Amino acid sequence: MVLVLSSGRKKFGRCGLSNKFSTRTAQNKEEVSFQRVSLKMGLLQLTANENGNAILVSQSSWLMKHPSALDTFEQMMNIARGRKIVVFLDYDGTLSNIVPNPDEAFMTNKMRIAVREVAKCFPTAVISGRSRNKVHGFVRLDNVYYAGSHGLDIAAPLPSSKYADQKHQNRIADEMGNEFALFQPAQRYLPAIRKMLIALNEKTKSIKGVVIEDNKFCISVHYRNVLDEHFCTLEKLVKSVLQDNRDFRISKGKKVFEIRPDIEWDKGHALEYLLETLGFSSSDDVLPIYIGDDRTDEDAFKVIRNRGEGFPIVVSSTPKDTMALYSLRNPTEVNKFLSRLVTWRKKTSFCKLV
Ligand SMILES: [Mg+2]
Repeated sequence: MVLVLSSGRKKFGRCGLSNKFSTRTAQNKEEVSFQRVSLKMGLLQLTANENGNAILVSQSSWLMKHPSALDTFEQMMNIARGRKIVVFLDYDGTLSNIVPNPDEAFMTNKMRIAVREVAKCFPTAVISGRSRNKVHGFVRLDNVYYAGSHGLDIAAPLPSSKYADQKHQNRIADEMGNEFALFQPAQRYLPAIRKMLIALNEKTKSIKGVVIEDNKFCISVHYRNVLDEHFCTLEKLVKSVLQDNRDFRISKGKKVFEIRPDIEWDKGHALEYLLETLGFSSSDDVLPIYIGDDRTDEDAFKVIRNRGEGFPIVVSSTPKDTMALYSLRNPTEVNKFLSRLVTWRKKTSFCKLV
């Protein structure tokens, strides 16, 4: 059972929070009394849904709906036998812990080894909201494909015929002479992003703890270290910058506002693009695994759900609204899952070589 505590607040609002909570079940909309819910609090966890409303969810119903990918590993691999697995990984909160300073979200060497080994067995890509160069700098592996800026900046092995739009896709070579395709569908927004960065830094400089991160094709405004009493002011200032830039949209991640061009391109599109450029678009036996912890990863989960094949895995220690079918609690469990995947790949003769 999922119970929603509606506070009447607006989408991103801690501003104007009402003390008068009403409760209802999310599934049957039946009103129940707050007293009755309080009595059951010991069995339930308080969390938040996509709209920022507080919700109460039992841990057992969460795991029934989104079983642990470690506990169900064998069943998952039974489905994967004979399929071409492609692995997609988010970075922050998935390969690294969320830390107060986003510049220090380093992954452990143990995690790096796990990702490196996975990438030896399966085509592997990291899709992050960070700039592509930044996430490459954190991961530091050359056998992994990188998509930065929530998929708005992708380095893939070969130019895709499907996306052979020279305006967005270029064939370039690295210092070793290796050619690859660079897909950047939001190039025309770069001048506006530069101006927004200046405006955001200027307008928010008086608020202690704000970190404005330049992620090339998008901007992250981190407020993890901002005092609660300054949040509303910050939110208004960020939105005021958006009002002058109607071609952009804002979304909210974990203690961060994400600002990006309002174009139809997200992590789900990046997943499809990479499958295409990696040569799997026409394969009916490809099985994508996507592991991520944030709201922006939901677009990729949705693509996998719509394909009807693959494993969307959310990283979360608490119940949440998600399109994922499986769960892992934290990066430590992601590490275990990746290591088991490598062990399974090495043991089985049923997994096709890719
Ligand atoms: Mg993340």
